[in-house]
Parts: sequence; structure tokens; C-alpha cells
Amino acid sequence: MALYGAPIWAGRLNDETKALLRRPQRVIARRIIRGYSTIGHAAACALAGILPWDLDARLLAERYNQRMELRIADERLAPQELEARLAAAKKRERDRWKSQLEDEPYGTYTIGALLPSFDSWLDRKSGILTYRQVQVMTGHGCFGHYLYTIQREPSPVCHHCGYEDDTAHHTTVECPTWAPERRELELVLNVDDLSLHNIVARILVSERSWEAFNNFCEQVIRKKEEAERMREERADAHPLRRRRRGTRQRQFVNALIPQ
Ligand SMILES: [Zn+2]
Repeated sequence: MALYGAPIWAGRLNDETKALLRRPQRVIARRIIRGYSTIGHAAACALAGILPWDLDARLLAERYNQRMELRIADERLAPQELEARLAAAKKRERDRWKSQLEDEPYGTYTIGALLPSFDSWLDRKSGILTYRQVQVMTGHGCFGHYLYTIQREPSPVCHHCGYEDDTAHHTTVECPTWAPERRELELVLNVDDLSLHNIVARILVSERSWEAFNNFCEQVIRKKEEAERMREERADAHPLRRRRRGTRQRQFVNALIPQ
């Protein structure tokens, strides 16, 4: 529906109208990947593997124009030739997408890891993302850094080892608490560094690798969620929290019992 009449308006998009297209597509892409509402349009579309609508509109316009040119010239093309033209047009828009992603200021943790394997990521035949995989791949989830950013924690500290900044990278690569789970995944993926770009490259190799990453995310994030739940319960038991239940302001969280 959003692309209705695309051949007419695709060439006239400006920053404002592109932003209008991005807003609803961001919601759809986030639903596809089961991601948090804070994930940006570019990272959500890249993870979901859906071409941004401004580029999709260009693709539709190009196909329409090609058909019209053939009709005017009263020319018929062999199916293979039509297919080749369509494939070339798709490749052009995908390359344009990659260029856009390279310059994208938001979601760089995710995008930077996807780009080196982007064609394989988009063309994979299996591998459905789960809620917890997406947390690990975006950093938007049960991590001290993120919870602090959305004002649900008084600091970004890692509650499992005391490190000052609990990011997705810290959880996956550094935090000593998750060493057994990390070792298990490293063995299956055959890497000695679980940086996200390594993970992405390796999970695309086989279903077993994808499943091993899924297991890692399930085990680790479940434990982190459980720990967060216990912290919240402790905080809820605090008299100040009971009076102001529901507020999420940092000043208030700072007033809670020390963790
Ligand atoms: Zn830690």
C-alpha cells in the first residue's frame, strides 16, 4: 500500500518524504525481527532483510519504465532477458542500499557486523531471528548500557562482573560470567573471537552454527533477564518505589537502594 503509484513519485522523493516512508517501515521491520522499539530504521531493515521503501519505489519505477519503453518500441523480450534486466535492477538497488548503510550514523554496531556478509545475509535460505538473538545483535535489550540509556538502571555497570559498561559486546566477548557458554559457541563456530561480525559470518555457514548462536543467546539473555527481574523485585519492595510505582526517571532510580 505504501508503494502505491511508486513509478509516479519514486523520482521525486526528498529527505522529508523519505522520512515519512521510513516511519511505518521501521515499525514493520521491528515486528519482523521481534526487536525493541528503540531500534532504528536502517538496522531493523538490514536485520529483517527488507529493502528500504524509497529504494523499493525506485525499483518498481524502473521496472515500469522498462515495460513502457518496450511497449512503445513494440518490442518483445525473451523471458531470460527480462529476468536478467530485473536481476540487474535489483542488484543496483541493493548496492545503493549498502552504500546508504555504510554512511548510516545509527545502529552502527549491527550494520557494521552485517555489511561484510550482507549478500549472504539477505540471500540465506534458513535462519529465523529470535527475540534474544536480536537483543545480542543490536545491543537493545537486557544489557546494563541499554537499560541505563532508557533510564531503567541507575548506571550502565555489568551486574555479573562489575565492569563499568555492560554492552552487547561486553556480554558476548568479555564478561567472565558467560565464559562456559562462550566457549561452547566458539567451538561450534570455529572462531576464537565472538565479535559480532565474526558471529554473523559463521552462523551463515550452516544451520548448526545458527542454532548454536541461538542457544547462546537464549542461555545468556535468559539469565540476564532473570537477574534483572530480581533486581526490579528488590527495588519494588523499597517504600519509595511503592509510592511512585510506574515512573522510570533516572533521578528516581538513583534514589533506590544501592545495587
Ligand atoms: Zn560483565
